[in-house]
Amino acid sequence: MRIDVITIFPKMFEGVISQSMLRIAQEKDILQVGLTDLRDYTTDKHRSVDDRPYGGGPGMVMLVEPVAKAVRDVRARVPGKPGRLLLTCPQGRVFNQALARELAGEERLVIVAGHYEGYDERIVELLGAERLSIGDYVLTGGELPAMVVIDAVTRLLPDVLGDPESTACESFASENEGLLEYPQYTRPAVFEGHAVPQVLLSGDHAKVDDWRREQALERTRKFRPDLLNPGQTKQGS
Ligand code: SAM
Repeated sequence: MRIDVITIFPKMFEGVISQSMLRIAQEKDILQVGLTDLRDYTTDKHRSVDDRPYGGGPGMVMLVEPVAKAVRDVRARVPGKPGRLLLTCPQGRVFNQALARELAGEERLVIVAGHYEGYDERIVELLGAERLSIGDYVLTGGELPAMVVIDAVTRLLPDVLGDPESTACESFASENEGLLEYPQYTRPAVFEGHAVPQVLLSGDHAKVDDWRREQALERTRKFRPDLLNPGQTKQGS
């Protein structure tokens, strides 16, 4: 998979993409990340990417022209594969594990990291972009959302994780009926008087599986009942 990000802060990505699973995915040639500085597509001496909103109001709006030029240039770099275009935006489709899986099936993504009060609306109309939100809160810019998407998508690509089963029993996985994952324990068996549940030390795999499923259900009921009954609101919302 190739993921291109168009951003005014390409340096913000350097640490994240050069460590851990994202580094391994690139070393294995499963993932390529391209970082493009939006300011390279400006024409004035200040390298402006924003201007005041028509109609007045607070803040600045991201200009359509540099974004359109950057997106078209980035898309043209891989002929025949324009890629699915995502605009980070708190008003967008909310990113979740199902969408991460869907995006992991793409060969190419192009993500535009927004700033200021938002985008000139024509960016969406002209370029066929999809708005993507990482949750119901407002961040300063789209770089962190872009990193969230890159991370969540990459770990679902084949051969990135050492044990392919590990994503199947994780929270939200369809193989796990969309439930939260069961509680985990490791050594020591007792710490400061707190013991590991006996069933996990029993060696009886069927019993362990039953216990884990019960726990997964209980946790989901308690912390995220909305996952069991779509339409119900999340805890705290
Ligand atoms: N005025 C916008 C609104 O009320 O919807 C918020 C703009 S926000 C300060 C600046 C940029 O940060 C957005 O254009 C978007 O690119 C990014 N951003 C902020 N929160 C986000 C979120 N929850 N998900 C995705 N992107 C977000």
